[in-house]
Amino acid sequence: MSILLIFENKNPDPWYKLLKEKLPGGTIEVYPDVKDASLVDFIVCWKPKKDIFNKYPNVKVVQSVGASIDHITNSQTLQPNTVVTRIVDTKLTQDMWEFLVAVVLGELKNTSLYMAQQKEKKWKQHRYASFKDVTVTILGLGSIGGYVAQNFSDFGFKVKGWSNSKKQLSGVTSFHGKEGFKDCLRDTNFLINLLPLTKDTRDILNADILGSLATSAFLINVGRGEHLVEEDLLQLLNSSRLSGALLDVFREEPLPEKHPFWEHGKIKITPHVASLTNIESAAEQVIENYRNFLNKKTLVNVVSLKKGY
Ligand code: NDP
Repeated sequence: MSILLIFENKNPDPWYKLLKEKLPGGTIEVYPDVKDASLVDFIVCWKPKKDIFNKYPNVKVVQSVGASIDHITNSQTLQPNTVVTRIVDTKLTQDMWEFLVAVVLGELKNTSLYMAQQKEKKWKQHRYASFKDVTVTILGLGSIGGYVAQNFSDFGFKVKGWSNSKKQLSGVTSFHGKEGFKDCLRDTNFLINLLPLTKDTRDILNADILGSLATSAFLINVGRGEHLVEEDLLQLLNSSRLSGALLDVFREEPLPEKHPFWEHGKIKITPHVASLTNIESAAEQVIENYRNFLNKKTLVNVVSLKKGY
């Protein structure tokens, strides 16, 4: 029995150190240094390279070290009974809320505009909207989106949210399913995408959907790059149908140097940092799951492979 860490674009060393310390008797290896591939039964991973799991025929559990699992389901063919788990962490959720409120308040209070004016020594005042007159719509009311929606509501914004199943969140007008989607988008000033990437949500941020928002709405994509149809966004920004976008996630990461987003005046880019996994608290969940696995107990934060999240 052994745990194998497979990390791309992420340093496995602190994870290895922590797991080794907390599971002193366990065999923990870091890809590609594996003694016996047949003994690997628990993979801990981030963005594994295509079909890499095929080398390990006896894997029973795959643990994502992030909130999402699309990096696994899009790159691997999983054995029918493999259990896939993810991280659900209050710190991750809180950090996401803090990031999003900073973005929305910055936009509402024109901070970028004033910084640009300062460079030109230009003294020009602009009016701002009050929270109570601004509609923030959250796509995805899961462990992160639900919390974010309630907090925006507590601040006094008008808040709408969209999910697969109906939700009851105080202060949040909730819509669900395909039939509720367009109503949810109407009058939206800030659209925040917190959906998981699945076959149903890929390319969901397209011209039709983004064109249903209020005029001059602002898009914040912290879900996944593949949610967004990039050409559609550029077109809507260039025609001033949308006022701007903050993008934290991209189809290709790091965003290629020649990508048109880098120099677009209405696009703000952050390098997939809206909320970063906290190694200490996430490792606790990995350890709990490994112990549960060894003791044949139910694992925590298991995802539905059928739903894709
Ligand atoms: P959850 O799985 O807890 O929630 C997903 C939500 O999306 C649920 O409310 C679900 O509905 C809804 N949903 C899924 N598919 C559909 C659909 N087809 N139509 C309508 N609603 C749908 O995920 P989390 O809140 O933990 O995380 C959400 C995403 O945030 C992650 O998948 C990841 O992509 C992103 N993320 C980004 C980070 C960053 O730094 N940029 C950091 C962390 C997460 P229901 O509740 O009915 O099932």
